[in-house]
Amino acid sequence: MLRSVILAASRSSQVERLIATAPFTRDVVGRFVAGSGTDDALRATRELVGDGLAVTLDNLGEDTVTPEQADATRDEYVKLLRLLAAAGLTPAAEVSVKLSALGQRFDEHLAYDNARAICVAAEAAGTTVTLDMEDHTTTDSTLDILSKLRNDHPSTGAVLQAYLRRTESDCRELAGAGSRVRLCKGAYKEPESVAYQSAHEVDRSYVRCLNILMSGDGYPMLATHDPRLITIGEDRARWFDRGPDRFEFQMLYGVRPEEQARLVGEGYTMRTYLPYGEDWYGYLMRRLAERPANLAFFGRALLSKK
Ligand SMILES: Cc1cc2nc3c(=O)[nH]c(=O)nc-3n(C[C@H](O)[C@H](O)[C@H](O)COP(=O)(O)OP(=O)(O)OC[C@H]3O[C@@H](n4cnc5c(N)ncnc54)[C@H](O)[C@@H]3O)c2cc1C
Repeated sequence: MLRSVILAASRSSQVERLIATAPFTRDVVGRFVAGSGTDDALRATRELVGDGLAVTLDNLGEDTVTPEQADATRDEYVKLLRLLAAAGLTPAAEVSVKLSALGQRFDEHLAYDNARAICVAAEAAGTTVTLDMEDHTTTDSTLDILSKLRNDHPSTGAVLQAYLRRTESDCRELAGAGSRVRLCKGAYKEPESVAYQSAHEVDRSYVRCLNILMSGDGYPMLATHDPRLITIGEDRARWFDRGPDRFEFQMLYGVRPEEQARLVGEGYTMRTYLPYGEDWYGYLMRRLAERPANLAFFGRALLSKK
């Protein structure tokens, strides 16, 4: 119920205005976001890589409505990749890209062209691109664009969401050699017709999908903070004899940092998803919806500023 309310608010421009201008908001944003500029992203990446983590950077923003906005997002990624390479931070750092930020909602061809330009820049920088997955209305389009991109850039990664009923079948499609797939639970509000609604069903689906990916020939990226699923991931890595170059764990910046350090200490590849930029509202609201404790953190920041 609370999750639905927060996810509904994440689409409300009135609530966005209220939260974005509140004085306490910056502290909360700072926990989950590296900062607003490219410099902040580079600084945080350097720190994380120094701690033995791999990184995937996300230039915040989604649902652009004009070609100019979409092109600006593309240009920011191209610049970021050039700077990451110059700083010697690739290949430890790659980028995560939302196609809706590249124009997918109004022109799929434009989104494809922009994504391709980012893949070219990533290749020149010696690293990879992963296409984030957004709500279910975009899944087919995103997987189509992925498949086209992979013709010239086979390392381009996909994200599959365990809460969608279709995902087991998508995992089978994408478990082949060379295929990089991030498996997450899914962060959007989806109808029962397409998505499991209970946490238990989503977790069970996650394990089925994890089994398909870990027993396949691709490169699974297990994106979760869930202790039980991480234990199952570690178990399957042993079972399928997958070392740190054959799969990885992924978590969000600011979430369970001690667990991220533990996995690095155990010798796993652990990648932190690092968002940066001004357009943090939708991202922050999805994080709040995921976990009541994050909401309490928001509340404490509010009280401490009174
Ligand atoms: C690297 C990465 C990339 C992602 N990319 C996408 C994407 O492209 N598309 C998409 O829809 N979603 C994406 N997500 C979000 C994802 O779908 C989930 O919404 C999010 O990860 C929460 O699910 P969870 O697996 O962590 O489990 P949850 O069900 O949220 O949490 C399970 C358990 O994990 C532990 N836990 C969770 N959060 C915390 C915390 N803050 N502190 C301490 N313990 C905690 C608790 O024990 C909790 O009970 C991504 C997530 C990650 C990590």
